[in-house]
Amino acid sequence: MDRNLIIAGGGIGGMAAALALYRAGLGFSLYERAPAFAEVGAGMSLWPNATRVLKTLGVLDQLMAVSEPVSQFNLLRPDGRMISAIGMGGYATPALCLHRADLHRCLRGPLPADCIVGGQRLISFAQDADGVTAKFASGLEVAAAGLIGADGINSIVRTQLLGTVSPAYRGYCIWRGIASDSEGIVRGHISETWGAGQRFGILPMGGGRICWYATRNCPPSRPDAPEGRKHEVLQLFKDWHRPIPALIEATDESMIMKNDAQDRQPLGRWGRGCVTLLGDAAHPITPNVGQGACMAIEDAACLTKSLLAAPGIAAAFYSYEAKRKRRTAYVGRQSRRIGAIGQWENRWMVSGRNFVTRLVLSHTAEMGLNAVYAYEV
Ligand SMILES: Cc1cc2nc3c(=O)[nH]c(=O)nc-3n(C[C@H](O)[C@H](O)[C@H](O)COP(=O)(O)OP(=O)(O)OC[C@H]3O[C@@H](n4cnc5c(N)ncnc54)[C@H](O)[C@@H]3O)c2cc1C
Repeated sequence: MDRNLIIAGGGIGGMAAALALYRAGLGFSLYERAPAFAEVGAGMSLWPNATRVLKTLGVLDQLMAVSEPVSQFNLLRPDGRMISAIGMGGYATPALCLHRADLHRCLRGPLPADCIVGGQRLISFAQDADGVTAKFASGLEVAAAGLIGADGINSIVRTQLLGTVSPAYRGYCIWRGIASDSEGIVRGHISETWGAGQRFGILPMGGGRICWYATRNCPPSRPDAPEGRKHEVLQLFKDWHRPIPALIEATDESMIMKNDAQDRQPLGRWGRGCVTLLGDAAHPITPNVGQGACMAIEDAACLTKSLLAAPGIAAAFYSYEAKRKRRTAYVGRQSRRIGAIGQWENRWMVSGRNFVTRLVLSHTAEMGLNAVYAYEV
């Protein structure tokens, strides 16, 4: 096949799909609406299910050089006492914390430059017996054998296929920031601290950089406090254990990102004929288990395998969708459930939650995490 697949969207999902197709010798062109790939984004975690795929794509060594391997996950109370700890060893490939921009650079590094076209926003597509024609805001029209919509949570491809449905807001917002190394950080240890209607996470990501995230229950699209984001987060977490206040203090206000926690109910169909979806376009999930990008990376590997195995594009897309639907719905459900419990506000429920979590976390976590992390595409 020669350049006959179109990938719309060059985020982690689109770029992982491009790399997987490239390694398999399948032709494609990727169209991204942004004119250039900026150093945007925050810190993130990549779990063994995704690093296993990235190893097969030949980029794990580069990723290891720009990330911090995770050896332990600690769940804490706001005063710093441990609720539970889970060891992260024992998987074939490591869990990593890193900057999204570094992951993106590692994915696009091996790709020929002429396969990636920036500054092209997809506005619609048309299918016929020969394939699909993608139409861009610039007036460009490109005919291809198949279209992969990797254009994120507000996907144009999904909207044209399945109609407009707003994402579901899950009741809390998330701030993210990056601070330089702070006292009290143990390398390789990531943590989440559970309060009442608030959580704080710490992810050391190598190179002296610490990614943090913070949540609070609030209405959707809540505007920033007049004093600014940093002040608001500091006020919410100023009495929490070390080094939480210091990490917020050490973060540049302009670099603090804020998102609403949102996802979508699993879709009945991901595509039609020679058009399909990948990553957040198909299955956005809340960030509680750090698996959104990991699912997109799994999608990329599965889609490529299906294309190599099936007799045609439509059959391959159908087989890919059938394989991925259950897995992504399961992980999305787990993430939503953990987020809902983590955001409980009632004092008695919070005490009960912490007590039960301390008793059962290591056992249930082992089973639950294995189901997610040991998965092989
Ligand atoms: C607070 C937060 C924390 C997270 N933490 C983690 C984590 O630790 N680990 C993890 O695995 N995941 C995490 N995620 C989820 C992860 O960020 C997403 O699942 C992942 O980035 C989805 O990648 P994607 O390529 O599918 O979509 P996107 O990253 O949204 O990329 C879509 C791309 O398509 C482009 N595009 C959009 N529309 C068009 C168009 N019409 N034409 C052309 N191009 C278009 C966009 O510019 C963009 O480049 C987190 C998410 C949030 C909100």
